[in-house]
Amino acid sequence: MNAPFRIHAPVVTPVARDRIAWHPRGAVAVGEHGRILFRGDERDLPEELQALPELRGGDVLLPGLIDTHVHLPQFDCRGKFGTTLLEWLDRFIYPEEIRFAQEEVARDTARRFYRGLISAGTTTAMVYGSVHERATDIAFEEADRAGLRILLGNVLMDRNAPADLLLPAGEALDASERLIEAWHRRTPLLSYVISPRFAPTSSPELLRGAAELAERYDTYIQTHLNESDSEIARVRELFPENAHYTDVYREAGLLTPKSVFGHNIHTDDAQLSMLAAHDCAVAHCPDSNLFLGSGRFPIEPHEQHGIRVGLGSDVAAGTTLSMLHVMRTMSYVQGRSLHPFLPIHTGTLGGAEALRLANEIGSLDAGKSADMISVHVERKFCRGKSLQELSDVEIASVIVYRTAETAVRRVWVGGTELTD
Ligand SMILES: [Zn+2]
Repeated sequence: MNAPFRIHAPVVTPVARDRIAWHPRGAVAVGEHGRILFRGDERDLPEELQALPELRGGDVLLPGLIDTHVHLPQFDCRGKFGTTLLEWLDRFIYPEEIRFAQEEVARDTARRFYRGLISAGTTTAMVYGSVHERATDIAFEEADRAGLRILLGNVLMDRNAPADLLLPAGEALDASERLIEAWHRRTPLLSYVISPRFAPTSSPELLRGAAELAERYDTYIQTHLNESDSEIARVRELFPENAHYTDVYREAGLLTPKSVFGHNIHTDDAQLSMLAAHDCAVAHCPDSNLFLGSGRFPIEPHEQHGIRVGLGSDVAAGTTLSMLHVMRTMSYVQGRSLHPFLPIHTGTLGGAEALRLANEIGSLDAGKSADMISVHVERKFCRGKSLQELSDVEIASVIVYRTAETAVRRVWVGGTELTD
């Protein structure tokens, strides 16, 4: 059902890192422009909203899930095992990305990728394309058709990768500029992201040019940072003048409030302070980190520095697009079970904050866009409790720790229901 409507169902939405709102007998009303008019207990639904078309459901309503780091061209490479980061790129990922020179591959993969996001309940994603201008153009066309909220960019590489994936810096930046002109903010759901893959495959001119382009067009920036020891060692060899990996991006002008850095596992106080001083965000990708054995993400130091952190699937080093699964692995990578409010927040409102979209999405609050999902949760609870009898901690724990990847039933973006 598309907006306007009111839906009567259990509702969970984040309020802060350590707080959720839980309405076991809840309701959400969505106006004709796809904005949330009301969220709360159904008995408090204002009388004037009771005339809206009604939908009743037993599945739990949540904000749409937000994936802040995912690679579209790697969709068919999930689960390629047995290596660490740099070897995995050479053996599996670069050969796959070369295929995106073919339009049919780009089209077919983009369609299946977006269908995969919808069935996983991901309503917003920040996405790396391939290096091919036409493939990224197609990825935008298909994002528009899918109705998802997509932030996307053509990947930039001008050295240290197979020749078929490299372009001289000037040509690569010109291609990005054409894509920005065609797609950046073309609809309220689409944005461009300047996407140098990472420092090891970028010349200093490419990094500087990327930063200039982002500033000129007010786009997002995404790249990788401090993911593995061998990657960091390579950056040290390639950029011996810089104090550390983060400093390479600082010097190029890539540290901005609209920059999102993937991983940042092997970091330190100086680098965190630098990221915080430039108000940068970090995409934490725990499933990928477990898969490649990259290490344990330092949650508390990021928190202490006040750095905005979202969650990323990082497909295909991540094995699934399911952010429900990624919420669970956020806990497992820490070697302890986190309080479930934190993964719920990081996969929704935290992601929205990382993308500077928290005024628009990330929680089910009046005034925000109705980006929303319904999730089927297990019905057999301890000591015979019903769903409505669960506490806020219990329902959050069921969602994070006991909900299957296939549990997403319905998905709306801006009040429009999407089908996969
Ligand atoms: Zn990545």
